[in-house]
Amino acid sequence: MNLAYVRDYLRLVLLVPILLSSLLLSSLLFSSLTLAQQSDIAQEKKNVSQLSALAPVAELSIDPQLISLISLLNDSEHDQVDTQQTITRLSDLIASYNYAEQCLLLIAKALTAKSNQQYLQATELFQSAEQLFEHIPDAQLSAPIFSQLHHHLAQLYAEQADYQQAFLQRREYLKKYQQYRKSKRQQMIDSLKQNIEVEKKVELNEILISQNESKARRIAEQQAQKQQRRYNFIAILATTFVFILLLFRQVKVRNKLLQLTKIDALTQVYNRNTLFEQGHKLIADFANKPSDFTVLLLDLDHFKKINDNFGHHIGDQVLVKCAQLVGETMRSRDVFARIGGEEFAALLPYADYNKAKAIAERINEKISQASFDYLPSEQKVTVSIGLASMTHSNMSFDELIHCADLAMYQAKEQGRNCVVSYNKIAHEQERRSQDSGVE
Ligand code: GH3
Ligand code: MG
Ligand code: MG
Repeated sequence: MNLAYVRDYLRLVLLVPILLSSLLLSSLLFSSLTLAQQSDIAQEKKNVSQLSALAPVAELSIDPQLISLISLLNDSEHDQVDTQQTITRLSDLIASYNYAEQCLLLIAKALTAKSNQQYLQATELFQSAEQLFEHIPDAQLSAPIFSQLHHHLAQLYAEQADYQQAFLQRREYLKKYQQYRKSKRQQMIDSLKQNIEVEKKVELNEILISQNESKARRIAEQQAQKQQRRYNFIAILATTFVFILLLFRQVKVRNKLLQLTKIDALTQVYNRNTLFEQGHKLIADFANKPSDFTVLLLDLDHFKKINDNFGHHIGDQVLVKCAQLVGETMRSRDVFARIGGEEFAALLPYADYNKAKAIAERINEKISQASFDYLPSEQKVTVSIGLASMTHSNMSFDELIHCADLAMYQAKEQGRNCVVSYNKIAHEQERRSQDSGVE
């Protein structure tokens, strides 16, 4: 009995130190681990406090590796070794990280701790991360990558039965989630608005393009119309020009025809009709001063012989030359005409008997002394001229011509190649009749 008691006692004595030492060992191990973790957290806190000294920036850039890491950690089937390596690797870059990146790295570490069920450590890491929130823009914090911190903290506080903090964190999470939703919605609205604006601008642009096209079309049409009007104007101008030309030509032809009706075709002096037309006019004009109007009647002497001896065509040339010679003697106001065959007449206005006689004698002399190339030199061409001046205001032109004709016959009777005045014949006839009356 005593032996069994002693044995049990010895066992107990041996067991107690073993138990105590193992307890001591485990507590030492735990405390060293906790100390290490606490030093990590302290280091993180130190880093955070260092970063806190810097001013917050409006928009903080985030290393894409951190974003991938966080999304990987949120996946329940992620490779823990792999994520731990990534965290270790990215921790080396902490000096170059901004507040947002620092915060995400802490969140990544917290998520790792949480998945390892190290709730206390996870809570402290999340809290450290939360301290950096004041340096990160609110808009950025409402993103799920940051706001999830509140969600996880809420869970952790709930685990630790700190429902008050869990509630606050949950509320914060929901608030940020609402903010995030709101900003996303706003972004969507803005993007839609932008799209609508763009569509409107595109529509407006299309309208402007079509307006420009229609304007260009209208301008082209107007230019075409202008061009057409120009063509029409040129066509009208050309037609008018041609019409005027034709009109002028017509007038010229008409005048030529009219001239032909007035002109003798062979000698190109006035014809009989014109002579009588002009004669009737002049005799009326000189009714108040009759003696100033005289008529000459010219007849080539023995012209038949010229025709017979040298041919009709030579006779024609003689007629032309004689007409030309008489024409040269005429004054501008005189009217000279061929009244038929080898007979011509000259109307001499403003020429009394004496003046007319002088003109007639000059004609007579000019023809008789003229040389005709186509006639032998001994062949002379002469002319007999009858002269008659108006004797009274009631005298008709036919009467005057008749008087000149009588005088011309008298010239023939007197031997040709001379000038005889009807006034002289009349005077002699009067004297003769007076003489016979006296006897
Ligand atoms: P006189 O001295 O008496 O006047 O004699 P004449 O021969 O001149 O007169 P006559 O009346 O006998 O003849 C006129 C001639 O004129 C007759 C005719 O053949 C000619 N004669 C008339 N007209 C023309 C013509 O246009 N050309 C030519 N070559 N001869 C013409
Ligand atoms: Mg004759
Ligand atoms: Mg004759």
